[in-house]
Amino acid sequence: GSAKVVVVGGGAGGATVANKIKAAAPNLDVTLVEANPAFTTCFFSNLYLGGLVSFDDITHDYKNISDLGVKVVHDWAEDVDTAAKVVKLKGGTQLPYDRLVLSPGIELKYDSVPGYSKEAAELMPHAWQAGAQTKLLKAKLEAMDDGGLVVLAAPPNPYRCPPGPYERMCMIAHYLKTAKPKSKLILFDPKTKFSKQGAFMEGFKAHYADIIEVNLTDEIDSYALTRVDPKTGEIETASGRKEKADVANIVPAQRAGLIAHRAGCAEGDWCPTNPENMSSTKVENVYVLGDASVATEMPKSAFSANSQAKVVAADILAELAEKKKFPPRFRNTCWSAIAPKDGIKVGANYTPGEKEGKPALVAKDSFVSKPGEPVGLREETFTESFGWYSGIVSDIFA
Ligand code: FAD
Repeated sequence: GSAKVVVVGGGAGGATVANKIKAAAPNLDVTLVEANPAFTTCFFSNLYLGGLVSFDDITHDYKNISDLGVKVVHDWAEDVDTAAKVVKLKGGTQLPYDRLVLSPGIELKYDSVPGYSKEAAELMPHAWQAGAQTKLLKAKLEAMDDGGLVVLAAPPNPYRCPPGPYERMCMIAHYLKTAKPKSKLILFDPKTKFSKQGAFMEGFKAHYADIIEVNLTDEIDSYALTRVDPKTGEIETASGRKEKADVANIVPAQRAGLIAHRAGCAEGDWCPTNPENMSSTKVENVYVLGDASVATEMPKSAFSANSQAKVVAADILAELAEKKKFPPRFRNTCWSAIAPKDGIKVGANYTPGEKEGKPALVAKDSFVSKPGEPVGLREETFTESFGWYSGIVSDIFA
């Protein structure tokens, strides 16, 4: 029969791989395993919190991918027998493969925050995996009285979407400014610095000076959380700061999705990969991409995952057809909305190279929005991000 490609994870990385391979080689047997019937994008979910887009705008189904001829299976991949080359699904199905692609995204390390848990996330949402959690956070913001306190706890590095917590600060603050202007938003950050910091700090001040308070860790104080109490809303930092939040958005530390660990692809929290094609350095015939992978200087973003997916698809197509391979080209841009008509971005191209004597994806031609840019440029960047969103969504979901 025809060669079998199984893809686990129908998000930014996995859905792209599945549809690109099937479109290029309709005779290949391509199966996409995805737990959920529809996918709500984390990207632009902050804009949903800010009221700039609707929940429907950020939710997409698998109809087009399935119409292409990809077998879309809505089930949970429980385990992989990498010797027998079989994926085992919770529902009992066994899927043999010639090539396996894992793009399962992240798993939250709930216990990285004392007092936090999967259950606690029902009271103090993380909203770092989009869907019900995102709706819950928005509902809590909407239910809060004017004059309430929102606390956002950012995660330690490395994590999904480096600018994400700071865009979220802006979008929550935008909502508060327009609907509940007496409210406050406090950031507790276990880190000393963050992505696009200059432009973000300027934006916080320009738009939300009365609302946002930023607490970054420094030599004196650590703003890592040492305790949360989901029932009372109490939050404590290592520096001894105590707050009682009306709405707490706790984003814990993260690691590669469980199936990547089960498949033996992880080293510690994340999965090392070969920079020329995102194949696992640990398991043969398996690729790991997107957030779950170690891609050195490439950040964990949907743009990165989609870019890596095209490299993976090309590599698999070349291998199965025994054709020549070409040097890969990777790219990323992360846009962030500071306010309506005020957008910033950061990005680079990436190529296989070396870092600290090891094979790595290395950035070149990088760029980042700076403080003090003209209003017109910021508006252009904001508009550009909407073009990017519709473009990438049709690329991912076909
Ligand atoms: P995902 O897109 O998470 O897809 C993984 C999929 O695998 C999920 O659908 C999951 O259900 C499924 N899955 C996992 N395990 C299994 C299993 N065992 N069996 C079956 N299915 C499974 N990126 C940008 O580029 N731009 C942005 O502006 C941006 N903004 C963001 C804002 C926020 C608030 C957050 C949290 C993230 C943002 N990101 C952004 C990051 C982006 O969402 C992720 O980097 C991207 O989704 C990663 O793609 P992935 O394929 O690795 O994982």
